[in-house]
Amino acid sequence: MNTLTLIKNWILNLFGFRKHSKEVKEYLNEANVRSSIYMAFIIVIIEIWMVIRSTNKYVIPSIKAGNNFFDSFFIYTSLFWLFMAAGLAVGFFAIYFLVGKNGNVLSRAYKKRRKIIPIIFASILIIYSFFIFKEINNFVNWDSTYNRISNLGTILVYITGFILGLSIIAHSIFVIKTDKNSIHLSILVVIIFALMCLVFGVKVGYSDFFSRFDIGTGLPRAKADSYEIKSILCFLTMVIYVACLLIWRPYLSILLLTGIFTAFHALITSDPSNRIFPDGETVNYITFLITLSMVAISIYQQRISEALKAQNLEYNAKYDIITDVHNYRYYVDNLAQRLLNITDGLNNYYYLFINIQNFKTYNDQMGFKLGTEFLIRFAKKIEEIFNEFPCARVSDDHFVAFARKEGIENKIKLLENVLTEDAHGLYLYLKVGAVAPITAVEDINTSVDRARYAAGSIKNLYGKTFAEYDDNMHDIYKKKQYIINHLDEAIVNGYISAYYQPVVWSKDKRLCGVEALARWIDPVYGFLSPGDFISTLEEVRLIHKLDTAIYERVCKDLRRMLDEKKKAVPVSINFSRLDFELMDAVEVFESIVDKYDIPKEYVHVEITESALTGNLYHLQQCLIKLRNDGFSIWLDDFGSGYSSLNVLKDFKFDVLKIDMKFLTNFEQKEASKIILDMVVKLAEKLGMVTITEGVETIEQANFLSTIGCERLQGYLFGKPIPLDTLIDEIIKGKYILSKEII
Ligand code: C2E
Ligand code: CA
Ligand code: CA
Repeated sequence: MNTLTLIKNWILNLFGFRKHSKEVKEYLNEANVRSSIYMAFIIVIIEIWMVIRSTNKYVIPSIKAGNNFFDSFFIYTSLFWLFMAAGLAVGFFAIYFLVGKNGNVLSRAYKKRRKIIPIIFASILIIYSFFIFKEINNFVNWDSTYNRISNLGTILVYITGFILGLSIIAHSIFVIKTDKNSIHLSILVVIIFALMCLVFGVKVGYSDFFSRFDIGTGLPRAKADSYEIKSILCFLTMVIYVACLLIWRPYLSILLLTGIFTAFHALITSDPSNRIFPDGETVNYITFLITLSMVAISIYQQRISEALKAQNLEYNAKYDIITDVHNYRYYVDNLAQRLLNITDGLNNYYYLFINIQNFKTYNDQMGFKLGTEFLIRFAKKIEEIFNEFPCARVSDDHFVAFARKEGIENKIKLLENVLTEDAHGLYLYLKVGAVAPITAVEDINTSVDRARYAAGSIKNLYGKTFAEYDDNMHDIYKKKQYIINHLDEAIVNGYISAYYQPVVWSKDKRLCGVEALARWIDPVYGFLSPGDFISTLEEVRLIHKLDTAIYERVCKDLRRMLDEKKKAVPVSINFSRLDFELMDAVEVFESIVDKYDIPKEYVHVEITESALTGNLYHLQQCLIKLRNDGFSIWLDDFGSGYSSLNVLKDFKFDVLKIDMKFLTNFEQKEASKIILDMVVKLAEKLGMVTITEGVETIEQANFLSTIGCERLQGYLFGKPIPLDTLIDEIIKGKYILSKEII
């Protein structure tokens, strides 16, 4: 943008020429309606005061002098009553406008009052305005300029009062018909009220101003009444109100103010003597107008920025910023209401959890921008297909919807089409999980979580798009929740322990170590294996708690073996990658090793190959530190993932643990043997030793031994067992401890 357009935009903004959204308009209008309440309040108080004053000062003396009671009263207080009626009508209109604004939930009584009360006060105003005829009758004469202007001012105040009453009634009729506020009619009410104030200000200001002076000479009247020496204060009060409380577009405010100032100036300088309003005063007068215009601009800008902020807040509370469909919070709130209104059986409906599988690849290959555009299209389609109930984006490529069971297959098919149409040759899969609501007041989060779980259950099932949450899933789900909720308790109560699986030298099959494998022996669920809890704990990022417990357990057991002279064997411990993210794993581990005073060569660190993807800098630093501190680092599950060889380039490992996958169908597959042979040689070349896990047959063991794999582990040599059993079996001679342990 060049400087010129910047300046142009700045000026357009400053004077309020930009377009406003509906929300901003509503906000501004609401602020003006609120300001009307303050002004109405001030007017009512002042007019009461004026009525009392005039009664004491003029009405009572006039009655005492023998004049008609009603006439005396009317002559001296009529305009005050009119203005008071206007203040009351506008005040009640504004109060009930705000009470009934969008989003406010009203009781029945309030709803009724909101329709009736403004009508009552507006009617009083309208009826009162018919006294204009009596007022005209009372006019002294139309002879002098002063009298003509003063009379005209009075008539205008009555007319605006009459129109004000009508516009308030029009608004009330709109409310009665639609149960909503009308923006346009309320703007009209506020504008007419402002006009009435201005006209009243000019009229009273003008009359007061001239009644201080003798019109013929332009000199102050000798017996000027203190009540009349308000000069133009009333005028100023009214314009300040319009400029500071009622804020429209600044250019409008400036036009209106300039117009009314010019008119008033013309009136008060119209005296023939030209002595009443000297030139010097005009400078002050114009300065005041400019200041007031600036105030109007500044308040407008302030309100606009507040309105935009409020608009943003409102948007963020309801919508997802990326896809523009609703967000999860809105979904939950809205659905909670909708569930209550379902009368044809909750069981006919589904919560849906929608996931695009493989979307990450799409994002990677097509770029972030196209990925986002795809999500937006997909989100719109969901909104279109499941339009009966709210739907929302939860995160990434995850969405939620709610729908009738009937016809669900077709809807899912429609949604699936988007994926195939739009995939650019990449494979994207739709995975939808579903669960029916149970009660109308249930915790929606739990149900959504279940639908998510159902969607997750078909993650790797090709061709399966839809899964309903069933009893079996419920059991697994419950178990998962149980694990998450009872981890701390299990650690404290010692339900978590380490089993040890023997590792032997391939050359003489003597015991050279064990691997610690976590077990959770639970009072409710009984014996739990890592398959039951490791991935769950990783998913909810609690795995470090379990691993810390295992470090402690292993070191304690090792201490016992060392102390009882059972000839301890080294233990390899499984580390999760998350351990290094969720805590200072190096520090935690080393301090536990120190606490039990375990020689470093007695504990090995196992880290799986699959952990070594993504941003590795931190993990690499941690592993280097452990290695420098004297721990042996083992690469677990080598060959099971995609990154195998790369990993060897970037990291230094002491031991390579070949994955048991290489041994499946070992006997029939010649290729497996060749690969195993090459892997062992490769490791050797890179300065690592090898161990193969999952050894179940003698043939496998013999083969591995011939190709030079140093260590073996597997059911052939023993399953994971508790420490006591291990010690027992060592004592009984089932395992012969090797002299070499490294
Ligand atoms: P892993 O580290 O690869 O452990 C080897 C798994 O293979 C163990 O299962 C073990 O019982 C099993 N296994 C050993 N020999 C044989 C065999 O000859 N045949 C067959 N079919 N299986 C054999 P487990 O104990 O269920 O552990 C599963 C996985 O859980 C482990 O795989 C490891 O990744 C993880 N894990 C276990 N304990 C811990 C722990 O304390 N912390 C962390 N973070 N992960 C652990
Ligand atoms: Ca392992
Ligand atoms: Ca392994």
